[in-house]
Amino acid sequence: MLASLEIDLGAIRANAEAIAAFVAPARFGAVVKANAYGHGLADVARALDDWVATFCVYAVEEAAALRDAGINAPILVMGPIEPTDLETAHASHAAITLWDTGAYARRVASVGRRRQSPMRIHAKIETGVTRLGLAPANVAAALEAYERTPELEVAGAFSHLAAAEELDSDFTLVQLERFQESLAPFTARPLVRHIAASAAALLWPQTRLDLVRVGIALYGLWPSPETHARLGEKIALAPALRWTTRLVEVRDVPAETSVGYGRTYRTTAQSRIGVLPIGYAEGIPRAVSNRGAVLVAGKRCPIVGRVCMNMTMIDVTSVPQACAGDEVTLIGRDGVSTLTAEDWAEWAGTIVYEIVARIPREVPRVYRPT
Ligand SMILES: *Cc1c(COP(=O)(O)O)cnc(C)c1O
Repeated sequence: MLASLEIDLGAIRANAEAIAAFVAPARFGAVVKANAYGHGLADVARALDDWVATFCVYAVEEAAALRDAGINAPILVMGPIEPTDLETAHASHAAITLWDTGAYARRVASVGRRRQSPMRIHAKIETGVTRLGLAPANVAAALEAYERTPELEVAGAFSHLAAAEELDSDFTLVQLERFQESLAPFTARPLVRHIAASAAALLWPQTRLDLVRVGIALYGLWPSPETHARLGEKIALAPALRWTTRLVEVRDVPAETSVGYGRTYRTTAQSRIGVLPIGYAEGIPRAVSNRGAVLVAGKRCPIVGRVCMNMTMIDVTSVPQACAGDEVTLIGRDGVSTLTAEDWAEWAGTIVYEIVARIPREVPRVYRPT
């Protein structure tokens, strides 16, 4: 393979424990959707299986994959499930997310009936992302209907926040209020209530409730630069992923040589141009063309020209000894230098989530054990 990833499971476990201590007594849900944010679903889950309150995934296939990998902890499928996949969810002993009150909810119950044990559900409440969930005004009637259905086991209720990174906005508190108010008639029920993802869990103590659903911070990445600036001193998070490739070609070129499609880069002096065997199809955002950098022999080498589908060119003039076969670090430390997913997000004009979630599944991952 032309690139590889090294994942430090010990760092992930340490991040989880640090966050759990920070948010206690709220319990810790580990969000492992999108292939554990690119870190590898099964291996990340195994490192946390004896310890988490629940794993949170998006799709039913992820729940089934976790069970195939021998995972025993509870699982919550947060996303929609095709009616034909409800059997799989039940067979995977996963809790599903329910907000329907019509034919779909009856179908869920019928699966519980046929399989002779209730389907475990968390009711989803829409409080301000304008995405999935029951309108707050409909929560009481829906929950009562779920409770009257013996084939449904109502285990929890949750919502999701739209602007938890924004400390100067009170919208988080507005959403929390809508959530709590819609559940007020159910105060006595043993429902697991949850609304906080990483940013809220770290920044808004009042949102922690019974459980926090932590994704990005689990991987040692901050939900936003502002969150990092605010809490970087208070809680230590260690990035867990190292992404490397190798130079496949290095050539000396004179000044005034153009590099790549569209000839958007021209050398201004005699230069050494290196070629990486991965491009935007392998997870390097095309938006970092003429903006990003990688590390070769501990030195920062700029990405020059446009990122191609499967190749990327870099300027290695500052590393005279560089030659084909040398290791290139995209994310991680090399000598005294480090590049982070945050750096890539800034160059690409996106968020760290997108950088790691788009690293392809096929890239081989090597795991450092906990
Ligand atoms: C992705 C997701 C999370 C985790 O968000 P982070 O910001 O990565 O912690 C939590 N809850 C829901 C519903 C999500 O979709």
